[in-house]
Amino acid sequence: MNIRCYNFNLSISQSVLKIFNRYVQIHPKSPESGGILTGEIYDNIINLLNCSEPSDLDQRSRYNFSRSFIAAQKFINEKFKISRGREIYLGEWHTHPEDHPSPSNTDRKNFLKTIKNNHLNSNVHFMIIIGRLSIYIEIYIDKKFDEKIIVTRSDL
Ligand SMILES: [Zn+2]
Repeated sequence: MNIRCYNFNLSISQSVLKIFNRYVQIHPKSPESGGILTGEIYDNIINLLNCSEPSDLDQRSRYNFSRSFIAAQKFINEKFKISRGREIYLGEWHTHPEDHPSPSNTDRKNFLKTIKNNHLNSNVHFMIIIGRLSIYIEIYIDKKFDEKIIVTRSDL
């Protein structure tokens, strides 16, 4: 899937979309899921290539997802190594039990804390929230909010 953003083109791989679809909170009791996003940046093209899936170390409930730092770091290191440093951390994703999701204040606070506290290779980061009918994408450039994009899931 290709999305035209203000400053660049964003491409989300089929394998990432497949994982997003797998965790949509359709069942009334399914918990929130999430993980991290990794990919490559070339000039004004950003490829989201992979995302981690929930691990046993995460805390998950119907209305909360708190990912484990250890599992995420392992995923990032692996991708970095396999790609010889081309594939880097690009942000976070999680699901919401809503048709059209929007981030909570806690979501934004946690996301900013994560991208501010870490040593990162990219100046672009994404916070993606998967709802039942649409996907909400918030883009941060130089650790500041830049743009939001909403994609209907049936368009994917
Ligand atoms: Zn949330």
